[in-house]
Amino acid sequence: MPYGSAHSGHFITNFFHDPDKSSNRRTVADALTNHGWVQDIRGVATVEVIMDFLHLWDLVTEMALRSGVSDKHIWRLNSSGHYSAWSAYEALFQGSILFSPWEQIWKTWAPNKCRLLLWLVSHDRCWTADHLKRRHLPHPESCPFCDQEDETIDHLLTGCVFAHQFWFTVLQRFGLAALAPQPVDNLFETWWSRIAAMVSGTTQQGLNSVIILEPGCFGSIGMIVFSTR
Ligand SMILES: [Zn+2]
Repeated sequence: MPYGSAHSGHFITNFFHDPDKSSNRRTVADALTNHGWVQDIRGVATVEVIMDFLHLWDLVTEMALRSGVSDKHIWRLNSSGHYSAWSAYEALFQGSILFSPWEQIWKTWAPNKCRLLLWLVSHDRCWTADHLKRRHLPHPESCPFCDQEDETIDHLLTGCVFAHQFWFTVLQRFGLAALAPQPVDNLFETWWSRIAAMVSGTTQQGLNSVIILEPGCFGSIGMIVFSTR
């Protein structure tokens, strides 16, 4: 792998924890000469560190410096090779997961405290029994409404027979009873996306607002999720 003379860039890896930062001042050329970078390694040699070391060793072994050739800095996150603040910002989101219901939650007429509740629901961040169980905290063995299934946020809001009745009653007031959860609807977000796609325009925005507003009014769920735990 050809490189320039490598005198203008610094050789930095996460191996080095040198308090005086002397290791950070090594140029690439200096670090690669006689494997000088190995002398700068600090800290405990855990299995992960050793694996990283071997990986880095293989990488630098393939590097061949070319004396007298000027270094060229290339910003790999931009196709042009030049740095831009936008490409750096975009890189922050590499590997991130798109939050699919964001528009359904934030572009509605519901007040912010209700939006926040649904945001927590969508991220599965409510203190339902399944979360309490994973943390070895006291929790109900089953749903306090139906006493038939495990208590999860999806069950409380969608899968429970009481949730079916709740949504049917709410949506019936707007002539949308047919959109109430069916026995096959066990996931809140999936059900919500499905019925939101069945309407459009202001009806859709109104439906999304109702779905965001009502769980907060569903007193028992609010109490379970927020108040008593
Ligand atoms: Zn239930």
